[in-house]
Amino acid sequence: QVSRNFSVKDSKTRFAKPRILRAVNQISLELNAGQTLGLVGESGCGKSTLARMLIGLLPASSGEITFAGQPIQAKRNAHWRAQRRDMQMVYQDPLAALDRRLKIVDQVLEPLVIQNLGDRATQLAATHEALESVGIGEDLYGRYPHELSGGQRQRVVMARALVLKPRLLVCDEPVSALDLSIQAQVINLLSDLQKSRNLAMLFISHDLRIVRHICDDVAVMYLGKIIEQGPAEKILSEPAHPYTAALISAVSHPSGARGTNGTLGATGATEPRKRILLTGEPPNPIDVPTGCAFHPRCPSMLARCKTETPIKTMLDGRHAVACHLHQGSAPLVYVPLATDS
Ligand code: SF4
Ligand code: MG
Repeated sequence: QVSRNFSVKDSKTRFAKPRILRAVNQISLELNAGQTLGLVGESGCGKSTLARMLIGLLPASSGEITFAGQPIQAKRNAHWRAQRRDMQMVYQDPLAALDRRLKIVDQVLEPLVIQNLGDRATQLAATHEALESVGIGEDLYGRYPHELSGGQRQRVVMARALVLKPRLLVCDEPVSALDLSIQAQVINLLSDLQKSRNLAMLFISHDLRIVRHICDDVAVMYLGKIIEQGPAEKILSEPAHPYTAALISAVSHPSGARGTNGTLGATGATEPRKRILLTGEPPNPIDVPTGCAFHPRCPSMLARCKTETPIKTMLDGRHAVACHLHQGSAPLVYVPLATDS
């Protein structure tokens, strides 16, 4: 039986303010239960916008986004509420995601009350279960967000998302605001919860080391487009797109660990690579270059790259890339990111 939890095909979204901006287009993604998809790229490339579009917080102006076979609801009706319950988000800044006037136990209880799910005893039992699953003990139930550490707060945010028993968890840079020393704990917890609850997880990160650690698949974004996607292991060890290669190469070298357009973590790659320097202007989503949007910075640019937009092609298996260097490969019609089970 086909179990497509979540898919997006050629969707576009636009910001109305402060100006028209093509933030996300030509997107084709699919995510199934029990699977983690990493979405990577420099800051400003449209990762967060895509995430908000996927869970219906931003409208997609064209294309099709479905969740569990149903179109993403735009109208804020009862159906929308039910759909939103299935799609929960963990944000970068846990303090901003929590209500500073609510005790920890009430932070997690609140979504159940708002959604009017079950009686009081059932709600409390679910709250305790969610807090226990993220390692928050009863001694912290009566505390307020500012009395907790950053790591504890992010655990509470996770409990608040999980208490609704979502099918999809979208994590937008969930540990980048946390101390390095506790990032691994939170990542491992997220990964364990994803597996034990069979969640579909969209994991947005600029840290390729974390992505390699927890993601089954990866999609690389550049100026609102996914330019390479497929199995994480394959793409992070044998990138086909010059931009992906540059991202990986930048983090394989200590001197390149901090780029000008966002911090990139180490890949954990064992073999040192020759560092590929990105030349030219950093990406500006207001003024997208013609042809291949990456051409002004590409070390492998061909003449046609300035005028012809590369289309996504399949390399082998599930590995897709949009780059003229790979133009001989089969044109891509649709990229399944996971085998149906
Ligand atoms: Fe570079 Fe051309 Fe490929 Fe774009 S299409 S990444 S400019 S080689
Ligand atoms: Mg972002």
